[in-house]
Amino acid sequence: MVWQPNRLTPKKSIVYMKHYKFYEQVNHNFDKAAPFTRFDKGILNQIKVCNTVYKVVFPIKRDDGSIQVIEGWRVEHSHHKMPTKGGIRYSHKVDEDETMALAALMTYKCAIVDVPFGGAKGGVKISTREYSDRELEKITRRYTFELIKKGFIGPAVDVPAPDYGTSAREMGWILDTYRQMSDDLNAEACVTGKPIQQGGIRGRTEATGRGVYFGIRETCNHKADMDKLGLSTGVEGKTFVVQGLGNVGYHSALYMTEAGAKLVGVAEMEGTIYDPNGLDLKALMDYRKETGSIIGFGNSTSLKGKRVIFEQECDIIIPAALESQITIENAPKIKAKIIAEAANGPTTADAHEYLKERGALIIPDSYLNAGGVIVSYFEWLKNIQHVRYGRLNKRFDEASLMRIVSEIEQLAGKSFGEVERKVLTRGADEYDLVDSGLEESMITAYEQITTIREEHNLEDLRTAAFVNAINKIGIMYEQMGIFP
Ligand code: GLU
Repeated sequence: MVWQPNRLTPKKSIVYMKHYKFYEQVNHNFDKAAPFTRFDKGILNQIKVCNTVYKVVFPIKRDDGSIQVIEGWRVEHSHHKMPTKGGIRYSHKVDEDETMALAALMTYKCAIVDVPFGGAKGGVKISTREYSDRELEKITRRYTFELIKKGFIGPAVDVPAPDYGTSAREMGWILDTYRQMSDDLNAEACVTGKPIQQGGIRGRTEATGRGVYFGIRETCNHKADMDKLGLSTGVEGKTFVVQGLGNVGYHSALYMTEAGAKLVGVAEMEGTIYDPNGLDLKALMDYRKETGSIIGFGNSTSLKGKRVIFEQECDIIIPAALESQITIENAPKIKAKIIAEAANGPTTADAHEYLKERGALIIPDSYLNAGGVIVSYFEWLKNIQHVRYGRLNKRFDEASLMRIVSEIEQLAGKSFGEVERKVLTRGADEYDLVDSGLEESMITAYEQITTIREEHNLEDLRTAAFVNAINKIGIMYEQMGIFP
């Protein structure tokens, strides 16, 4: 489908899905892909359902002495591979349906990028801004305790990670709570996204944003797709906007700008700013730290609302906040030809249909934001191996490279300079290996998805990604012992 700028009214055939909940929307996308696989209804149903849903309610004592009841969930969507894996979200919007949808997306995401885990997700229904650090620590430790009690956490069982509203700090509290209750030798692998000092891995914080960049780069290097959109290949020179300047949005924008793309708009809680001449990301971050807002930055125009960002003139929009942001209502106002889903579920199923009809290219969340879980997988491996990447081979590799360099120098009859020599003989450290593994995973997954898209003559990458996931998970269920 080529880009059709004037198709502003969705076709009559589009099924409006406004009343569909998030989990139903995920399943709707699944159902569209299922006919392109060879699995029967029974297997498909087993893949789709959430295997276990655990709801917990517990009290905490607030700083002012009052007691508050807190609701939380942990959903393990699929046990076709173990452990299950997925972040923990803190938000006032958390509920069972959202947690189920996000757990399901984790299953498909892991399969798409060949991370050998089932999908899971956790959520606590709180608005973090309303709690002190002390209260957040209490909530995190109590929630972890509830997970331990019911066997919903453990290196071989279910391994949480950060998500919206949580970070390395919370993961550190989770590990500490788990360790107090267990003498498991592999205890450090019970959670990922930890601080480095507590068994975390270099490169995890920026991993999702870094992966988003790799995914966009691969897509923009696909000449046939860029031709259909009327865009040149490559990231360099493309303009983009980002919704959400959290960990994922910030790092996506950072690597995009480093690669020569131009950031022209940002949306945050307080509103939206737009400047066609480009926004300096670092200066913007400093400005927000100082003033508490992005509004009024540099020469930018301020706009009301967070979703108005999608209507701005640019090549790529990167939603990097919450789900259901691009809807059938605002999709016709989108001018960008590429939608890069850094958030989970940012585009509703009907908006996706409309944008596809119009010829836009959507890089789906289940592929694009998988960088976080990919590097979580590396962290988990590091934890069960009890050794930092590069520790065994870095010096050995450097010595080998040094011998080769000396040999070349002798043959050439001249020496390299000091700086050149250092560059040529540098062995890979943990960050280098993580980054290389992340890049490899994103490239391989992109190739798999585009191959499937061509094989089945599919029009969109999301359906192709789902087909890829269903194929990998279906085989596992087929071979699993189903008790008579
Ligand atoms: N919360 C992240 C996601 O949605 C990371 C999950 C993980 O590392 O387990 O992909």
